[in-house]
Amino acid sequence: MKKCVIFIIDGLGDRPNEKRLTPLKEAKTPTMDRMAKEGICGLMNAIDIGIRPGSDTAHLSILGYNPYEVYTGRGPLEAYGVGLDLKEGDVAFRCNFATVDENFVVLDRRAGRIGPEEAKILEKEIDGLEIDGVKVIFKSSNGYRGALVLRGEGLSYKVSDGDPHKVGVKVNEIKPLDDSEEAKKTAEILNKLLKIVYERLNNHPINIERRKKGLPPANIILPRGAGIVPKIEKFSEKYNMRGACICGTGLIKGIAKMIGLDCIEVEGANGTPNTNFMGKAKALVEALKEYDFVLVNVKGADEASHDGNYNLKKEVIEKIDKMLSYVLEHINKDEVYFVLTGDHSTPIEMKDHSADPVPIVIWGKSVRTDDVKEFNEFSCAKGALHWIRGEHVMKILLDLTGRNEKFGA
Ligand code: ZN
Ligand code: ZN
Repeated sequence: MKKCVIFIIDGLGDRPNEKRLTPLKEAKTPTMDRMAKEGICGLMNAIDIGIRPGSDTAHLSILGYNPYEVYTGRGPLEAYGVGLDLKEGDVAFRCNFATVDENFVVLDRRAGRIGPEEAKILEKEIDGLEIDGVKVIFKSSNGYRGALVLRGEGLSYKVSDGDPHKVGVKVNEIKPLDDSEEAKKTAEILNKLLKIVYERLNNHPINIERRKKGLPPANIILPRGAGIVPKIEKFSEKYNMRGACICGTGLIKGIAKMIGLDCIEVEGANGTPNTNFMGKAKALVEALKEYDFVLVNVKGADEASHDGNYNLKKEVIEKIDKMLSYVLEHINKDEVYFVLTGDHSTPIEMKDHSADPVPIVIWGKSVRTDDVKEFNEFSCAKGALHWIRGEHVMKILLDLTGRNEKFGA
């Protein structure tokens, strides 16, 4: 059976500068250009025209999951990302360990960037609590960050953030965002939980030690980004393919785990412009020996864009081109279909995601070609694929790899 790869350069697209250039247009990308020449090109909006996607909603859409159905907030992805085993109906939040005074005024939103060892000990004071019949599950990740899950009957994700997102003000009282009993109950439980957490953590030996060292105590958690764990069809059932994911960021790992893709860990893959590019390229080649489908996300170009760093974005794109060169050298070209694209544009001038479509090329044996010879925002606009939405990508791959059924006689 044929295999497929979706290779996402995060934040790839851009808007032209005064010289009519973008980082992608200016970057030296012989391999991407070769793929454009040999493949079929176009433009893509991951969700739709005029929609500025997050990386999470964009990836879901490109993988064929309707984000308007399965995405209610970032919490569940964070919780999947830290390795929690979630159930449909769980309500999940992103969390920070933080420092508050006795009046719940936030003094440090990251509790002095408390390290993972101390956080793991404090985690035990929260994980496993039960409030009004609802189970509290909490797991820290990499120090001050963590995920909080509420499990039980009659919960809702329609509640406000406890995190005030700044220091010098009180922790927000969590409020229901609609009139339902479920939202009211969930907000009440969370407000009770924060009081219990403060009581249990404020004079915990770890925090007594931290105060002695002049460090801020981690005596509260600040939940935000509530979302409900959806009923979701696993990737392997939906597409009849064994799938894997290679990425350095927790958010994308969360998506992969939610839909049942195996996450392949690559040393030094950290979701920054200094990631282990070639390690990821080698992991992709290896993964294709075992899996039918591999999703790759390389985050660095998006990071550079959020910092408004044009040259760094260009450099990251050039490094990704070298990854692709290695990959094309080492795979069986008759067997693998390759989609190269971005999840959204992150224009340098905006330092944030925009709704501008991204270039896309589909490359592989017997793919129809067009006259496009370079991979960038301008030339791909002339490609034979024209304009597609993210939801079309998997459908095209299923067709190219002979996995879709005929409609009609
Ligand atoms: Zn993104
Ligand atoms: Zn971004």
